[in-house]
Amino acid sequence: MTRARTQFVGNPERRVSTLLFSGLLLLLLLATLFAPSAGAREVVIGVLAHRGTEEALARWQPTAGYLNSMIPEHTFVIRPLDLDGLRWATANQELDFILTNPGNYVELESDYGATRLLTLRNRFGDQPYTVFGAVIFTRSDRDDITSLRDLEGKSFMAVSRDAFGGFQIAWRELKLNGIDPFKDFSRLEFAGFPQDQIVMAVKEGRVDGATVRTNILERMSAEGKIRLGDFRILAPRITSGFPFGHSTRLYPEWPLARSAQTSDDLAQQVAVVLLTMPQDHPAAVAGRYAGWTVPLDYHLVHELLVELGLGPYQVQPTLEDLLAAYAEWIAAGLALLLLLSGTTAYVLHLNQRLKQSKYVLEMEVRERMRAERGLLHLSSALEQSADIVMITDVDGVIEYVNAAFEEVTGYDREEAVNSPARILKSGYHDQEFYERLWSTILEGRVFKEVMINRRKDGSLYYEEKTITPLKTEDGRVLSFVSTGRDITRRIEAEERARQREAQLAHVSRISLMGEMASSLAHELNQPLAAIVNYANGCLRRLEQPEIDRDALRQALESISTQGERSGQIIHRLRNFMRRGEPQRTSVTVRQVVAEACELAALEAKNKRITIKQELVDTWDQVSGDPIQLEQVILNLIHNAMEAIHGCENCPRVVLIRSFIQEGRISVEVIDTGPGLPEKDMEHVFEAFYTTKSDGMGMGLSISRSIIEALGGSMYIRPNLPQGARFGFSLPLEKPEAPASESVTKREEKSLP
Ligand code: ADP
Repeated sequence: MTRARTQFVGNPERRVSTLLFSGLLLLLLLATLFAPSAGAREVVIGVLAHRGTEEALARWQPTAGYLNSMIPEHTFVIRPLDLDGLRWATANQELDFILTNPGNYVELESDYGATRLLTLRNRFGDQPYTVFGAVIFTRSDRDDITSLRDLEGKSFMAVSRDAFGGFQIAWRELKLNGIDPFKDFSRLEFAGFPQDQIVMAVKEGRVDGATVRTNILERMSAEGKIRLGDFRILAPRITSGFPFGHSTRLYPEWPLARSAQTSDDLAQQVAVVLLTMPQDHPAAVAGRYAGWTVPLDYHLVHELLVELGLGPYQVQPTLEDLLAAYAEWIAAGLALLLLLSGTTAYVLHLNQRLKQSKYVLEMEVRERMRAERGLLHLSSALEQSADIVMITDVDGVIEYVNAAFEEVTGYDREEAVNSPARILKSGYHDQEFYERLWSTILEGRVFKEVMINRRKDGSLYYEEKTITPLKTEDGRVLSFVSTGRDITRRIEAEERARQREAQLAHVSRISLMGEMASSLAHELNQPLAAIVNYANGCLRRLEQPEIDRDALRQALESISTQGERSGQIIHRLRNFMRRGEPQRTSVTVRQVVAEACELAALEAKNKRITIKQELVDTWDQVSGDPIQLEQVILNLIHNAMEAIHGCENCPRVVLIRSFIQEGRISVEVIDTGPGLPEKDMEHVFEAFYTTKSDGMGMGLSISRSIIEALGGSMYIRPNLPQGARFGFSLPLEKPEAPASESVTKREEKSLP
């Protein structure tokens, strides 16, 4: 180093030239390393690797090496491929040369324009052969198989469906002999390579017949694996110059083909190099061949493919062919399909059922939840209800009461539940009522009525009650649900109103009497004055010495008569003015009118008015209070007489008539007074409406309330040619006396 540096330093010119030289050398080296060598393009030889990649490489790599050495401008590469791979690579123009079996070559020639260059000279022993065939054989002891036809129904073995020498060559001959390998063998087995195993299978009796390429048997025999005598070659042929046993026509050996894109120049180079290859060249020995020869005629191969419908001559199978060819598969497929669809259908069915039952379950759960919610709602609704709710069993024992029940009755829940419902009994309903109630609800019908019940503290309450029987699906009554409303306040209010009306009616009667008082006084005065006169007369007769006893008796009788008459008037007046609860009984209209006329007669006489009666003499009974009805009629007569009395020239007649129409009786009081203008007609029944200076305006209003309370109605019509016609109509009572029903006394157990 030191020396060198010293040299460089010591001689700069030399140093520069040395550097230049070194640089040029480096450049040259790099150029040699990286620049593509001229013509050393990679040439790919696709080889059918029917026994695997390694075997193919081992067999053909030396040949590639030979080509490389002979044509150094190219690099020959072996690419082992299977039949599909060869086809694919040829189609994709990845191969320059193709070395394959004759059948495959014909296909590639037909489809991709591959052209044969040479035919392989195969080596068997020391002899090269450019043709080959197949041997179809069985075991020599199989006396039942002496011809190809005898193979029908037997088992058969070959290499593979695509193997040219290993199956297709034999297939053609079998077909010619009427045997379809795919149909007529009991079993067709493809064993693949090596073909030795096929021979062994026949030898060991695992299969009845088989086919292998020619020369296999002879080679195996030479190797000591078999004895040729153990086998019988079927349909043996003799071809001059071909020493191996064979059952088929012979076909040219494997061709080396060039692909469509390979240049003529390269093709020629390769052809020349291989044709001139010595048959003992190590590459040929490694490849188990004895060099190459000019290409043979592959026409025979074409014929085979045509006959078998293979490769380029593959006919599109008809449906029938397919059915025939794949009958077993189709059947199996169909069976599988059937099984699958059956299974699918079953699974779907199960699924459906599952879904259905899931749905049903969901519905049930939902229904139950709804029912539970409903019950919850119901119980809370019952609990919170303003109605009195009580549930009893069929024996009337209380099972449930709600808060409203507790509040109204004063019984708390603990006391009420399990007690008989009769704890509420007031005693205000008769036995007939309870009979009706029980028969209704036990028949499963709803009972609805106002009931008077008794609270725990003894007071009464009114309940507007509905008892609903709860029934099972088959109609059995399980329990009763009683819902009710406490209407005590309403009833009491109504009662108070009724009492007020009664009081009012009473006041009205007194007022009416007041209006009639002058007439009444006059009427009472007459008998009293008569009595006084008769009494004075009697006294005078008693003072005389001779008492006329007859005259005295007459006078006293007159006094009695007049007294009785006064008593009657006073009794009637007292009766009319009597205060008290209206009593609803059966009333004969005729009788009530007569009573009213008696009272009115005093005033009528006073006012010189005639009261006429035109009354029905048939059944005319109505339901009501006789005093109140008399009040109504008297009020109408009084109004009529007053109307007439205030009118100078009016006829002084009042007509009282009754008539019956459609089950109702009408009573009309018709006067011949001035009548009243139409506009006033609407108002006469209103309370406090009066046109009189001393009137209260209550008479017609109270009369209407009385009539309406009895289910009747009041009306006013003009009377033609003059006067007014006031009337009312009431429902007639049924003429027949109600049949007294025999009521079976029910054991007084409860009040639902
Ligand atoms: P009052 O007799 O106290 O006025 P009512 O209620 O009995 O009360 O009568 C109301 C009004 O109806 C009377 O003031 C009168 O104007 C009218 N009225 C009643 N009856 C007759 C009748 N027969 N003719 C004409 N008007 C009548």
